[in-house]
This record gives sequence, structure tokens and C-alpha cells, in this order.
Amino acid sequence: MQTVYNTYSLEKESFTPIEKGKVRMYLCGPTVYNYIHIGNARSTVAFDTIRKYLEWRGYEVNFVSNFTDLGDKVIAQGEKEGLTEEEVADKYADAFLEDAAALNVEPASSRPRATQFMEEMVAFVEKLMAEGMAYEVNGNVYFRTNQFKDYAVLSHQNMDELKKNAAGRLDGDDQDEKENNTDFALWKKEVRPDVTAWPSPWGPGRPGWHLECSVMNDVLLGETIDIHAGGIDLAFPHHTNELAQSESYHGKTFVNYWLHNGFVNVNDEKMSKSLGNFITIHDLLEDDSIEPQGLRYFLVKTHYRRPVAYSRDRLDQAQQELDKIYRTMRALAKKAGAAGEVDAAVAAQLHLLEERFIGAMDDDFGVENALTVVFEGLTLANRSLEEGQSEATVQLIEQKLAEWLHIFGVDNFEESRELPTEAKALLEERAQARKNKDFAKSDELRDQLKELGILVKDGRDGQSVEFI
Ligand SMILES: [Zn+2]
Repeated sequence: MQTVYNTYSLEKESFTPIEKGKVRMYLCGPTVYNYIHIGNARSTVAFDTIRKYLEWRGYEVNFVSNFTDLGDKVIAQGEKEGLTEEEVADKYADAFLEDAAALNVEPASSRPRATQFMEEMVAFVEKLMAEGMAYEVNGNVYFRTNQFKDYAVLSHQNMDELKKNAAGRLDGDDQDEKENNTDFALWKKEVRPDVTAWPSPWGPGRPGWHLECSVMNDVLLGETIDIHAGGIDLAFPHHTNELAQSESYHGKTFVNYWLHNGFVNVNDEKMSKSLGNFITIHDLLEDDSIEPQGLRYFLVKTHYRRPVAYSRDRLDQAQQELDKIYRTMRALAKKAGAAGEVDAAVAAQLHLLEERFIGAMDDDFGVENALTVVFEGLTLANRSLEEGQSEATVQLIEQKLAEWLHIFGVDNFEESRELPTEAKALLEERAQARKNKDFAKSDELRDQLKELGILVKDGRDGQSVEFI
């Protein structure tokens, strides 16, 4: 039975989707004004893994994740780069999709942009106003938080704490205009001449960020959805406000399960621009010594609710683990085939491993325990290869491991890393030495390559290499 930890109840709950066999899932996507950082990537990768697991278990997942393609950050970046707001949004939306593809993230079922839903957003606000849940002051519209009885629940703070924190958290709003300082903007007036504004009954302006997600959920997934996901920093105010708006609008539960991922710390400090440890995926992937799949694997191997501790050493350790997986998967691929019978004992062991794998993942997507099972599967694979098991047995092991690994985004078992230039030169030199039968030189070069982390093997077709 699938269980998920619901931030709303702070409990693990059994997962029952609204429609049998189908999951309606929404992940808050990035504001597209810059390259995504490793924290954004963690959220993207964690929920891609959860989606892939649910799909592997037979659910049809309607996975919606948005782009926020408007607002102050987009405007400011446009001014900095001499681009229009639309050009900024296009540039960084493309960059996000490129990074996500490199991290082997499955494309979303829909990837809506906030600017495509302006009419629906205005209509949403009009209805809230008609019901007394919102009020207009000077071209701005605010949500009346004290009219919504469960406003503070998802934040797990009491109203007094929220009021105290609100001024700092709900920046950008004009506090003097509000009836209560926890009230938040649904619509913001915009009168600057060079900035995009949309028409509304309250004058030109643009929607508040929270409203965007409520409306895109409503239009694309319906009144109540199964899973709403995002980073834990979004629980308040963003998700708290989405919940208040949507439930006021429909008078129904908005989300059955709220799932939040933990932070990424960099070199044991919180990542922030001021500490200078703000790492973008774009920069990381510019470095040829980092393999995108290694980065994906590093991000995915920590349970989604726990913090990920990033350091270059830990990333390299993850890459080494992944290389072990590659080596075994490549060895299996070489031997797999249709010939022979499937060994009953091996099949039985695989079946037991799969039960444990499912047990681990069904328990709030316990990737750490599930990966332990994968590594036991790899041990079984290596033993079966040593024992000279039949092609059919090897093929069965390969298929099962590939299915499990796919959930973590590990799909491509071919060596994809570029050899460093230095290593290429040493390999050429070594090939020449072997041609000249200078085996002392050849051995010496092999040792030098080993120091670079590259293992050389000699076969009938010449030298082949593996990363150690
Ligand atoms: Zn959102």
C-alpha cells in the first residue's frame, strides 16, 4: 500500500487517488528569470522520481508543472539584459527545459505559462470578490485571510505568529492598504509605462504569484487534485495562499496530499547569493568532469524530505557509485540473450528483491532503502555472471534492474563521459608503445591513467577504458 507524508496533517497517510488508477499531480515550477540553481533541480528531480515510480506502479499520472513568466523578477532581469519580459521568459524557460532534459527529467504532461491564463485569473478574482473573500484598494486586490477559517493550517504556525512574520514574508505588497497584515495580493496594479500590464475591472495590472498556481490547477487538473508538490519553503506563504484561494473559490478540498521536498545545503551551509555558494545547474554542467546523470543520481539518492548536502566530494562519490552500476549493466547487456532457461533460484531471488523494492518505495518513496535493494540486485547480477548463468537468466536480471534504475532517472548505461585531453594523449602514446612491443612503457602509462581515475583494459579490439 502506497503511503505519502502529507505536510497538511504532518502524518504518513495511505494514498488513494480521486480517480482509480489516475493521479493528478501539480509541481510549482520556476519563475523563468535566471538559470535554475541546485535547489530548484532537487525539487524537479525528486518529484520526477516520485512520478516515475507511480507510473511504474501502473498509475496514469497527469503531471502539470508551470512556468511563472511574469512579475518583478522577470521585469528586473529584462532591464539588466536589455530584453523584453517575454524574451527573458523564453530564454530561461528554454534553459530550464535543457537542464531538466540533461537531468533525465520526463517532460511534464502540461507545462503552462501564467500569461496564458489571464482571463481565467481575472474571473477567479471576480468570484472571490463577489463572495466577500477579497477586496479592492486603489487598483490592488487582496484576499481577506480572516474570512477563511483554516488559513494557518498548512503553515503549522498560529495566526499570531503568522501576523508577526507576515510583513517580512509578503514583501512587495502595500501593507497600509490591507485590512489584516496576513492578507495577500490577488491582483497588483501596474502603471509603469514600459512594463507589461493586463486589463482588469480594477485597472491594468498583473496577478499575484499564488493566484497563478490556483488557476492553472483549476483549469488543467480540476477542483480537487491528488498531489501538490514543491519545496518546503513554499508551504508558507505560497501554498498556504493557494489553498485559501482555491478552497474559497470552490468550497471543496483543493489538495488531498501536500508533498514538500527538503533544502539543499552547499558545503554544509545554506545556499544563498550572499554567501557566494549559489550553484546553478548551467554552471555545473559546463564543467566537463561532471556527468549530468551523476548529478541526477546524486540529487535523487537522498530521501526527498531530507536535506541534500552538496559538496564536490559527495558528488564525486555518487558518480563512483553510478559507475559501478554502469559497469554491471554493461556486463549484463553483453551477456543477455534469449538462449537457455531462466534459472528458477535467480528468478525467485529477483522476485523477493522486487517485493522489498516496492515495500521501500511504497513507504513515502523511501529511495534510500530502495537503492539498497538495487545494490543487492547488482550483487546478484555479478554473481550470476561469474557463475556463467544462461543468457535468458542474465536478460531477466538486466530487465528488472533497468526498470528499477529508470525510476531514479538512471537509463543510459553507455559510457557518456568525455575523456580528459590528458588521458586521450596518454592512451594514444600507450597504443603506440604496444605497437612497438614496449610493454614496460605501456604498463607505466597504464599506471598514469589509473592515477587519473581511468582503468585501461586490453582486448582483441585494442584498448578500452572505464572510469574508476
Ligand atoms: Zn505554485
